[in-house]
Amino acid sequence: MKHAEIIAVGSELLTPFHLDTNSLFLTEELNRLGLAVIRKSIVADDRQALREAFAQALERADLVIATGGLGPTEDDLTREALADLLERRLLPNARVLDEIRERFAHRGRTMTPNNERQALVPEGAMVLPNALGTAPGLWLETRGRVVVLLPGPPGELRHVFTEQVLPQLEKRSGARRMAHRLLRVAGMSESHLDHRIAEIYKRYESVETTILATPEGIEIHLTLWSEDSAEAGRVLDELAGRITMALGEAVFSVDGETLDEVVARELQLSGATIAVAESCTGGMVSARLTNIAGSSVYFRGGVVSYSNEMKTAWVGVPAELIERHGAVSAEVAIAMATGVRRAADATLGVGITGIAGPGGGTPEKPVGTVHFSLADAAGAQERLVRFGGDRDRIRRLASQTALDMIRRYLFRARQGRG
Ligand code: ATP
Ligand code: MG
Repeated sequence: MKHAEIIAVGSELLTPFHLDTNSLFLTEELNRLGLAVIRKSIVADDRQALREAFAQALERADLVIATGGLGPTEDDLTREALADLLERRLLPNARVLDEIRERFAHRGRTMTPNNERQALVPEGAMVLPNALGTAPGLWLETRGRVVVLLPGPPGELRHVFTEQVLPQLEKRSGARRMAHRLLRVAGMSESHLDHRIAEIYKRYESVETTILATPEGIEIHLTLWSEDSAEAGRVLDELAGRITMALGEAVFSVDGETLDEVVARELQLSGATIAVAESCTGGMVSARLTNIAGSSVYFRGGVVSYSNEMKTAWVGVPAELIERHGAVSAEVAIAMATGVRRAADATLGVGITGIAGPGGGTPEKPVGTVHFSLADAAGAQERLVRFGGDRDRIRRLASQTALDMIRRYLFRARQGRG
């Protein structure tokens, strides 16, 4: 087995309101088994569309996994469509029916006749029990190919896959495995980054290197398929090490950790406490600092001092300072950082003030201008960044920059101590 395809079944997945996340989980699991996912499709609850999707996928892949549409309602057609395509009869399975009956009895509910549809099993199929729901999964083999049908609810999908499908696939997959490393980088543009490391990763021809810009920083994915996973791991670690060497402090994670997680860990290690005064980011930095469980150890509090009056009343920015330099200025960012630090009696204070737009920009201070400050007992550092893009992007990048500023400060402090 080498190639897999995934079919996400459900008309709701073709609307703007629902995202197919099941295939992300499945892809990760299949890759780990050494199976490459060569195509994914999203198909409506429609008999003909489903039939076509299965027919086409079976021409290309050794393994086809479909999720969803196994439920009791009229629009759940996955098993019917597949049975139809493979010309297998659907037979009521007594054991499955008993289990469904038991589940209903256990919950004190009466079973409606449409639930019996879930006990229909295509001839020759293996039933994959589902302890979390009424619809079991199904495993079928046809002309050397495997088709697996799994329930749509993500919790049930994971459960049935892990308990029932994974052990079967492990028996059949070869020795080829995918080794992967994820490096995350902050405070550097994508092109700048590529310029610095292209010469390095191009020398590793067997490694697939992908650089992705995301709102949480730039991701560098290193992927290597190999039958020798120890050797693959060694090659990837060597390449990751060279990239980290070239990029230095900009690399904040080599094991998939997010910036929020890294900052939380660094704060915990340092024993420092922190307080935040935000303007244009509206609380996003405080939200990210409290994303991680256990944040009460270091997070003292945050204020959204949006108006000039609140900058003065809540964090003690002198009105005269705002008057003289404007609310969006290095001076005010520093006063916010030192003011909130003092008010919260924290080791560190952070101040952020900027123009997220779309209105409010001037030639000297265009939309995207954001001032940051980080204060400690010794004083305050300050930084100005001009972000491009719309309001949403500016605010997200500003919160990212603030977190990265905290991270670099803590990292340097730790190096200094060590
Ligand atoms: P049920 O017995 O609950 O009806 P089912 O196998 O018929 O199970 P669906 O009805 O297709 O599954 O989906 C049930 C719910 O599972 C959907 O409302 C949706 O929230 C979630 N779901 C389905 N497919 C996906 C998917 N590909 N990614 C994420 N969530 C999904
Ligand atoms: Mg359903």
